[in-house]
Amino acid sequence: MTAQQDIPAKPLPAISDFNRPFWEGTRVNEFRMQRCNHCKKLWAPNGPVCPHCFSDDYHWEKLSGKGKIASWVVFHKLYHKAFANEIPYNVAFVELEEGPRVIANIVGVDNKDIRIGMPVEAVFEKINEIVTVPKFKPR
Ligand SMILES: [Zn+2]
Repeated sequence: MTAQQDIPAKPLPAISDFNRPFWEGTRVNEFRMQRCNHCKKLWAPNGPVCPHCFSDDYHWEKLSGKGKIASWVVFHKLYHKAFANEIPYNVAFVELEEGPRVIANIVGVDNKDIRIGMPVEAVFEKINEIVTVPKFKPR
């Protein structure tokens, strides 16, 4: 058995009725988010009610997929064996142009060159027929 075979598959998101429209969106390269029909605010992560006013009346909206890096970290310690080939990897808070912040990896730039305020846009990495993961790259 080689070292490569010892690395388990990465965990995949659990798709539910509440987040399915998000994952259907990423499959067609769209970044979607829930918007409350009552208070009109967007929210993330996905959920059954608006975290601002607790209304369950909402719709899914296609966003620009553009934003800027609000903060980031670089992981040097391995916390999950599936990421063994990716150490060191970054995890960033991206503030979308529409306001909410989301957590994602930044691609297309060396970790040492990532900066707060760096303009980024969503890119979509197809994992399988069901899951396409949004990431962000400099724009
Ligand atoms: Zn609301």
